[in-house]
Amino acid sequence: MMYSLTITSHSPTRAEVDLSAFKENLQALKKAAKNSMLLAVIKTNAYGHGIVPIGRKAVDNGAERLGVTTVEEGALLRENGINVPIHILSSIFPERAADIVTYDLTASVSNPQLLNAISQEAVHQKKNASVHLKIDTGLHRFGIEPERAVDFCNSCYHLPGLIWEGIYTHFSSADEADWVTTEKQYALFMETVSKLEGQRFTFPIRHAGGSTITIERSDMHLDMVRPGIALFGFHPASRQQNLISLKPVMKLKSKLLHVRELPPKTAVGYGGSYVTDTTKKIAVVPIGFGDGYQRGLSNKGEMLVRGKRAQIVGNISLDQTLIDVTHIPNVTVGDEVVLLGKQKDEEITARDLADWMDSIVDEVLASLMERIRRVYV
Ligand SMILES: *Cc1c(COP(=O)(O)O)cnc(C)c1O
Repeated sequence: MMYSLTITSHSPTRAEVDLSAFKENLQALKKAAKNSMLLAVIKTNAYGHGIVPIGRKAVDNGAERLGVTTVEEGALLRENGINVPIHILSSIFPERAADIVTYDLTASVSNPQLLNAISQEAVHQKKNASVHLKIDTGLHRFGIEPERAVDFCNSCYHLPGLIWEGIYTHFSSADEADWVTTEKQYALFMETVSKLEGQRFTFPIRHAGGSTITIERSDMHLDMVRPGIALFGFHPASRQQNLISLKPVMKLKSKLLHVRELPPKTAVGYGGSYVTDTTKKIAVVPIGFGDGYQRGLSNKGEMLVRGKRAQIVGNISLDQTLIDVTHIPNVTVGDEVVLLGKQKDEEITARDLADWMDSIVDEVLASLMERIRRVYV
């Protein structure tokens, strides 16, 4: 007996990605930073939205550059015909230097081993590799400490095969509106840039801010801004809601797989963390933590059915989630379920999901696994 695999993409659970909402968000952010270049941060599979279609849409609508975290993401964009500069925003292992040079990716550098490897590889491939020096002004993740920047450049700036195209930093506390810390970091960055320029170490593109700075602090835009989450329709902080209008790009939908009535005092789901008090109508939705619909939503989150909110009951399992639909008339198998987005007058936002699971919007979106079909509308 032979089988042919023709039924792989028929799950009703899907993420609808609204490319025109993405375009509008990009245009609004470009307008907010009209004197600077815009690097669209599309790391982590474009925060779960699909890196290739989003990358293409960003470039077609005026993003001068793209930013990702891994060499694989950068190479994938190149293989799909994207030609703008692509920045690798994380540090990487020196072993990846050959791929950096082959795929013309722009590395973030603050480590002499990596720089030496990129330089040697560029010479070997007879190319010049663009690099951006990362300065650590307080996030304490990657980057050269400001007081070591001149020494670092004395030993590395003149290596062959490198184009020192830019210098940047990344703020630790802008989303929290901690402007004292952010302004200190900005001042330290600018002071470091001047010190380096005083020693004739020059960097044409200076950049510091992500979404929050793009929206709130034009005085820190410099030559380029690097928004990420805002492109996908989310303000990093609710105080920004009236400063710029953004539209959520993703909707998450499924269908009811099963509906049944359970008598009072029935334990529901693994561990029996929910017990019916009265007779309840319970429905099964085919999504679980194996899809990145996180278990922390158990007994907390809600979904929309027939324009009404339905509470998640019991523990979410790998592939299924149970909801209470007792109060919703005429519920039947096959009814549309909205997990993220609007249905009639009700709406569930990624911020709601984030609040229910005590997290942030970025985690909600980036957690959604590849096996959830992305549909572009
Ligand atoms: C993720 C990231 C960004 C984008 O941050 P948002 O807050 O999502 O806008 C910008 N710069 C760097 C270096 C990043 O790692």
